[in-house]
This record gives sequence, C-alpha cells and structure tokens, in this order.
Amino acid sequence: IKIKTLLAQDPESYREQEVTVMGWVRTFRNNQFIALNDGSTNTNLQVVAELGKFDESLLKRITTSASLKVTGAIVPSLGKGQTMELKAASIEILGDSDAEVYPLQPKKHSLEFLREKAHLRFRTNTFASVFRIRHALAFAVHKFFNDKGFVYLHTPIITASDAEGAGEMFRVTTLPFEDTPKNEDGSINFKEDFFGRSTNLTVSGQLEGELGATAFGEIYTFGPTFRAENSNTARHLAEFWMIEPEMAFYDLEDNANLAEEFIKYIIRYVLENNREDLDFLASRLAEEEKQLPQDKRSEMGLIEKLEFVINNEFQRLTYTEAIDILANSNHNKKKKFQYPITGWGMDLQSEHERYLVEKHFKKPVILTDYPAGIKSFYMRLNEDGKTVAAMDILAPGIGEIVGGSQREERLDVLLEKMKAMHIPMEEMWWYVDTRRFGTVPHAGFGLGFERMIQFVTGMSNIRDVIAFPRTPKSAEF
Ligand code: ATP
Ligand code: MG
Ligand code: MG
Ligand code: MG
Repeated sequence: IKIKTLLAQDPESYREQEVTVMGWVRTFRNNQFIALNDGSTNTNLQVVAELGKFDESLLKRITTSASLKVTGAIVPSLGKGQTMELKAASIEILGDSDAEVYPLQPKKHSLEFLREKAHLRFRTNTFASVFRIRHALAFAVHKFFNDKGFVYLHTPIITASDAEGAGEMFRVTTLPFEDTPKNEDGSINFKEDFFGRSTNLTVSGQLEGELGATAFGEIYTFGPTFRAENSNTARHLAEFWMIEPEMAFYDLEDNANLAEEFIKYIIRYVLENNREDLDFLASRLAEEEKQLPQDKRSEMGLIEKLEFVINNEFQRLTYTEAIDILANSNHNKKKKFQYPITGWGMDLQSEHERYLVEKHFKKPVILTDYPAGIKSFYMRLNEDGKTVAAMDILAPGIGEIVGGSQREERLDVLLEKMKAMHIPMEEMWWYVDTRRFGTVPHAGFGLGFERMIQFVTGMSNIRDVIAFPRTPKSAEF
C-alpha cells in the first residue's frame, strides 16, 4: 500500500490488519524508529522495529536511502505529528545503501547543490513536491481540453518548418560529420543533411496545429519543444514543454478568454488536489524570503498568490497603452530601465514586462495588438494596417508565460506578408493550402509548461521544474 493512502485513513480502520509498505529510509533513530518514504507524499511513515526483535546484522543495514519492504500492523501513534505508525513484523532489505558515500544527507541542501545531483534530487521533499505538482498540472491540462472536446494532436518533433524564423533551431542530421554535404566554400550544406533534405527539431507545433484546427475545429498539442538558446537565464531551456491549443472560428478575444480560463483551471486543480505539496513549497518559500530585506519580500505567500490569480480578472491592455504607461512611468523618467523606452514600435524587454505586472498592475496581464514589425508573419493584420492580433500573457515573478495570436486567414494578406518577411513559399505550400481550401478565422497560443510550473510552485529557476534540464551547461543524462 502507498504511504499516502495509508495516512489518509483513520488508523482505527487498519487495526489488526497487516499491511506491506515499500520505500526508502530517510532516517533511522535509536536503532528503533525508521522514517520511511515511498515518494507518494513528503510525510514519512514511522516504522517501529521493536528493540530485541531484529538481528543486529539487519539493523546495521537500515541506513539512509536503503530500500525496504516492511510488513506489520498499523497502530495509533503516541508520537507527535503522526496519527499512526507501523509496528514491523518483518523487515526485508531490498537494496543496501552506503551512507558514507550517499550524496544526500538528511539535512537541507541548496538547490544549486541538488542541480549537480539531478539524478537523485527527486528523493528530496522539495523536488518530490515540485514533480508531483508537475504531474498534476499535466493531468489537468489534458482534462481541461478533453472536457471541452479538443483533439490532442501529436505534432512532429522532427520538422522542416521553422515556425518562428528565429534561427534558434537544432539541426537534425543522419550523416556522420565527415560525410555531411558541403557547399563549394566548404561550409555545411544543411539543405541536404536529413536523407537529402533539411530538417530541425521543432521550435513550436503551431503551424502543424493549424492544419489540425482547420479539420477538427479545436485541437491542442502538448509536447517537447527545442530551442538552441545559448542564454543562461532562469526562464529559458534548450528543451522545454509547450501546450499549444489552436481553434477554428476564434478571434483574439476568444483566444484570450480561453487562455485565461485555462490558466485558472489548472491552478485551481492543483489547489484542490495537491494542497499538501503546495503547502510544503509555500512554507519553504516563506523561509527563504525571511532571508531577504523587507522591501524585497513578496506581498503575498504562494497560496495567497494563486488564490488571488484564480479569483481576479487578468488585466487586458494593448501594446500601445503599455508603451504609454511605460514611457510615462517614474521608473523610465528616472532612467531605471536598462533599455529606455524609445517609443512605439520597440520590442518589449522582460524588464518592461515585469514592470507592468509586478509594479504597475500587480496581477497577470494580457498584452495585445503589437506592432506588425516585431511579430511573426502568421499573425493577423489589424484594420489599422500597423498592428497584429497578437497576445502575450505576463505573470508576476515570471514574465511571459504565453505567446499567441489570431492567425492571418486571408490568403492575399498572408502571401504578401510572407513575401515581405522572406518566408520561402517552397517550404510553406502546405501551410498556405489551409487558406486556399475553406479558410476560416482561427487563433491559438503557446503556454510554456515549465514557466507555468515555476509560477505555481514558486521555484525561481526553470532548471528546478524539469526533471532533466537541457541548457548550454547541462546535458549529461
Ligand atoms: P521569451 O520572450 O521569453 O524568449 P518567446 O517569445 O521566445 O519567449 P514564444 O515563441 O512566444 O516564446 O513561445 C511560447 C511560450 O513558450 C513562451 O511564452 C514561454 O512561456 C515558452 N518559452 C519560450 N522559449 C522558452 C525556453 N527557451 N524555455 C522555456 N520556455 C520557453
Ligand atoms: Mg525567446
Ligand atoms: Mg517573447
Ligand atoms: Mg512570445
């Protein structure tokens, strides 16, 4: 039986019953009390090995991280902080662990230290909580879309399209390096390196997702995405997961409404189903904040913040309004931005986004209608001819968590934009076909799953919310 299931019951309901529990030793006190953890909860089960009942040779092998199978009777506990304990009738050591060389001590380790020990860090309470919440969020994502009748479409990992044209792609090659076709000047001929053609790892499933939306009406993708980001920020990974719904017959407002409803839904889901893990992370965060000077501390605790977000409307405003607010802010006048506000048309930097959410509105923000020049070719041109129906959702403490738009469904406008932005038709004919054969207004967005998990768990570094982070500095296993 799982320890979580056991602890959720009234100890009386187990009286006289024999149960078997398997897990790893966290601590062993007084040659008698084993704190056993099986990963289902951070609460350890106290196993009591009655003095004199077990061989000294067996007791010696009960060390931190050894794995055990214990059978015995559940009895109400007199100890503090627990309602029941397991009186061991038999203890079997499944796997020994040499406590002298086991890298984790039964004390608090720094997150940096644990990043170096990424292969074992799930065995700590912090990471166990984070990854149980990650699991629950993933489940909630599927539940949300399934309940609405969306089709889960698996878009390809290896693809010839570069959705963003941002040049952040990993190339996929089938050839040994020395056989890679070369151009006349000796440089690599990328056009032919995947069985004679050019491919890369997907940076977004959106373009393929649009093919699904224009057949099923509403689809979503949820899978790994790759970007050759050579930046070491706390919000970028080279491999991350993205959720990308794409909906026919939606305009930008419908799109924003869905995104807001979706974000609130998955947060509510973990508040209702993962309270123990959230409370654990909330108290961890509160401890950490105590080390900070008064003015650097957050106004709300983690739970309070999440409840605030699900109970309040996101702030909606246009890019043009945002530039106005930023340009007229004291922050800008006192030259506190690293990138000063130069006027309409400039791209917003994360410091500007964070100013808007954290200092100005103090709530999530949906920013819409960006200048066409700083956004991708597929975003729908507005009537003003200058802006596109784009939206970014910005979250306090994180910055951008969602990027989305209404897509350009008018064939002539799309073709004109592709030409102006140098998007090659020979690579995009299949995409353009959706506008040729029964085109419809449609929209979608991409939510960075890890950034969402950061927001929900309060973890400040994105490397701590994905099991095996891929960054320029880590790709070991
Ligand atoms: P940023 O401006 O933060 O670099 P972006 O505008 O390049 O993000 P989009 O192309 O809009 O990102 O992708 C959609 C979402 O995917 C983003 O809103 C973000 O949540 C997430 N995302 C983008 N790049 C990364 C990354 N390198 N690591 C983790 N998540 C990312
Ligand atoms: Mg980026
Ligand atoms: Mg961005
Ligand atoms: Mg974006």
